[in-house]
Formats: sequence, C-alpha cells, structure tokens
Amino acid sequence: MKNASCAYCTPPDGKADVLAFVGSLEFSDLYVFKDQFHRGRCVLATRGHYEELHELEPTVYAGYMAEIRTVAQTISELFHPDKINYALYGDTVRHVHMHIVPKYKESKDWGSPFLLNPESKPSTDWQDVVELLRKVPGTKL
Ligand SMILES: [Zn+2]
Repeated sequence: MKNASCAYCTPPDGKADVLAFVGSLEFSDLYVFKDQFHRGRCVLATRGHYEELHELEPTVYAGYMAEIRTVAQTISELFHPDKINYALYGDTVRHVHMHIVPKYKESKDWGSPFLLNPESKPSTDWQDVVELLRKVPGTKL
C-alpha cells in the first residue's frame, strides 16, 4: 500500500536533500541521514504505508522489528557507538519510520535527546556510510 503524498512512498530520490537511499530489506527501506553529526545515523521506513505501529500486521511488525535489530547490530559493529537511540515520531511525516541514531560520549547530544532536524548542512562523509550500511544482511538495491 502506497500513499502518493507521502515522502517515504515516493521514489527514493524524493528525499535526496536530507536522506540517501541505502537499500531495501524485506519489510523496510534503509536511508542514511546526509547530516552525519551522529556517525551512522539512519532511518528505517516500513515498505508499505502505515501511519501507526499498531497498524502493521503481526508478520510485518515482527519482520520490521527484526530488521531494526539487524540494522542496529550492523551499526554497532561498524561504528562502535557508546549507545544507540531509537525514535519513532511521525507528527509531520506520517509514514512509520524509525530513527536509529548512534550516540558517542564525545558527541554534543550525549546524555540528552538527539536533534530531530539538525540545522547543520549535509556532511561530507555520508557517502561512505551508505556504502558501509549496504553490508546490513539482507539489503538489496
Ligand atoms: Zn508512506
């Protein structure tokens, strides 16, 4: 199910100013934030349009949660963060998407919530993060 007015239901390049498409898993699409203030920061969006977590069918829910775990494990192995934060909002972008944000003790946001919409510009190192996260098991272009 797709929603024509939803940024996550449109082709991946529709979010190119903020996100870079990494690949698709069975139940989700993986994107890297071009602002890599938190190295490894990404978003995992459901492949179908759901506005609330409870709307996911049990099989889809279980698969989506397993993929969040897989992505987080890969981030942990690649970037060795001190903690991973997870956030599921959707007030303005209603498609279910989980922010997966590695946090580092030296980071400005350590000990507090990360900024949802950072004011900084895309960093220069997001391309290598895209390539690294293509190693998430099950990811296909
Ligand atoms: Zn959508």
